[in-house]
Amino acid sequence: MATTTLEPETAAADMGISEDQIKDITVIGAGPAGLFTVFSAGIQEASCRIIDSMPQVGGQLTALYPEKNIFDVPGFPKVSAKGLVDRLEEQAMQFKPDVHLNETVVDVQRLKHRVLEVTTNKGNVFYSRAVVIAAGIGAFTPRLPDDDLFAPFGEAQGVYTCVTDKSRFAGRDVVILGGGDSAVDWVLGLADIAKSMTVVHRRNEFRAQGHSITKMRELAQEGKVKVITPYNFKAIHADASGHVTGVAAEDKNGQVLEIKCDRLLVLLGFKNDLGPIVEWDLRFEESAIKVDPDMQTNIPGVFAVGDIAAYPQKIKLILTGFADASIAVQNCIPYIRPGKKASHVFTSVRGLPAGGK
Ligand SMILES: Cc1cc2nc3c(=O)[nH]c(=O)nc-3n(C[C@H](O)[C@H](O)[C@H](O)COP(=O)(O)OP(=O)(O)OC[C@H]3O[C@@H](n4cnc5c(N)ncnc54)[C@H](O)[C@@H]3O)c2cc1C
Repeated sequence: MATTTLEPETAAADMGISEDQIKDITVIGAGPAGLFTVFSAGIQEASCRIIDSMPQVGGQLTALYPEKNIFDVPGFPKVSAKGLVDRLEEQAMQFKPDVHLNETVVDVQRLKHRVLEVTTNKGNVFYSRAVVIAAGIGAFTPRLPDDDLFAPFGEAQGVYTCVTDKSRFAGRDVVILGGGDSAVDWVLGLADIAKSMTVVHRRNEFRAQGHSITKMRELAQEGKVKVITPYNFKAIHADASGHVTGVAAEDKNGQVLEIKCDRLLVLLGFKNDLGPIVEWDLRFEESAIKVDPDMQTNIPGVFAVGDIAAYPQKIKLILTGFADASIAVQNCIPYIRPGKKASHVFTSVRGLPAGGK
């Protein structure tokens, strides 16, 4: 392990990269612990990037229970999971980190001059002085009806797994696959602007908020939405350029229904997988990474926080993830500024550094 004292620019040049390419901290995972790590990095004036396999930030709160209320986050007697994510995002993003969504970290390697190399499934290679793993219960990826059938399809082909820009659905024939909260919410959210709206679900019952289901049924009665149940997805069709043109759905008697569309929105939830992380030579305890009291793993400069961090008496809760994040960032400082010790910061006394509001 190199313990060089080269100046940062000299060290970077020695590695054939520019100093600008090296962030102080790279955060893997944008759940609550990852988002609070970004904020904690900001108050320590450390540059930061955050990477998540999901198309949206929020981790389990966004993927598994966005509409549920949480009652045990200090200072919030009651807050919806989505509401908490919005506040965490606002707090973290004021420091303008580099954000990479829809991207999974597949490898972390320690190079010379205390630089870490982070590689993603998109082939991007990022450099960092410290890495904080906030990967929770693993990388979330959208659940598809059939991974092989959907492999050639992405947003360029008209197939979406989330809505980040409603205008892409305006004036389009939209089919939504799914029967949970997000499927019903987007039926309601896009019905006004879509040319046509069809929702296909394998059960007659939808698992969503009652008032949203009622509203969707009303729109169906008004002829503004088609509700196709109980039908299973069977096939996806495309034109010669590979763009989606429709889907086939099948009922339990084998009756097949062809539905035309030029926008297919698949909202079947997410699957999670620790995947590549277990191959990074980290010490694991069951399915979590063992950390020391400073939140450092067995790899120098690599820290772990939140649900993925294991230590005695650990409780897997949002609030413990926040504390983990704060401790980890303080202990990243010697990696970011060699020779410097972590300094404790009271934001009420010092305010926020430039970059923060
Ligand atoms: C139904 C339910 C209800 C809950 N209710 C409460 C509650 O009321 N109160 C409470 O305190 N806690 C609650 N929890 C637990 C809480 O959600 C977790 O403790 C919290 O989400 C952990 O946050 P995290 O940031 O550590 O991980 P996560 O929220 O799991 O986020 C991890 C993120 O890392 C990403 N990721 C993982 N691996 C990679 C990779 N290789 N590359 C890129 N990205 C990656 C994932 O996509 C994910 O977005 C609940 C959990 C569930 C399932």
